[in-house]
Amino acid sequence: VASGKRQRFTYDEYRKFLAAIRASYRFTTFREGKSIADHAGGPLVILRHDVDMGLEPAIRMALIEQELGIRSTYFFMVSCPLYSVFSRRGAEEVRLILGAGHGLGLHFDCAVYGEISADCLDDRVSRECQLLETYFGRAVEAVSFHRPGELELSGPELKMWPNSYEMVFREKFKYFSDSRGEWAYGHPLDSEAFRAGRHLHLCIHPVWWTTEPRTPAECLTELAERIASRLDEYLSDNSRVWNTGRMPRPGDRAAADSEMRATSEGNAWPSR
Ligand SMILES: [Zn+2]
Repeated sequence: VASGKRQRFTYDEYRKFLAAIRASYRFTTFREGKSIADHAGGPLVILRHDVDMGLEPAIRMALIEQELGIRSTYFFMVSCPLYSVFSRRGAEEVRLILGAGHGLGLHFDCAVYGEISADCLDDRVSRECQLLETYFGRAVEAVSFHRPGELELSGPELKMWPNSYEMVFREKFKYFSDSRGEWAYGHPLDSEAFRAGRHLHLCIHPVWWTTEPRTPAECLTELAERIASRLDEYLSDNSRVWNTGRMPRPGDRAAADSEMRATSEGNAWPSR
């Protein structure tokens, strides 16, 4: 059953999962993996995290990996509508992840640029990498593509950075991803590739992993609630219009509290 599968997306399961891989694999980076895949002398694993929706779940994951002495690479977007690595909070969160010993990657969204040609791609990616490198004072290790289109899937090579769709990572590494909160190609530990000690490329999205078992829809509901409360916090801190002028909504605790305060202080509810 689906709920049984979801038991495998808790942090406890994540610890066990990593420990099982660590027992016979060596964790590597995209750059190193690319150059030593043919003569590694043992199975390699690249652990990649695409941060599509929020930074908080990524922190949890980064700290668990640090605890286990495992190094992975976090791929951040510079164009994500749901978080900003350049905001005060976002930058602190990214620094926390990098401070836990993990690599900095760019998660590049081609769609931001509309139609993009192969020669443009390198230029656009370089600009975004430079943004991250300048801001965080760290080299970008690799690039992964968000919702890849035909161009990205064709296995383009970038001048400066390895990217996750290069042929080498698809041919020499067995790929597993937890897209949509399921192991679409089966659980890595149940796979023939794992038993045979083939190189692995694991793409794990922190948003699907939680303390208690959750459905993927519940994971997104929690994310939406976090974003909504942050929006409210920002507007409350920065706008009197938000604090005084907005219409109370049903079940709106903040508004009800301030209405009660206003009433008890003998003030009328603001008319504007
Ligand atoms: Zn993505």
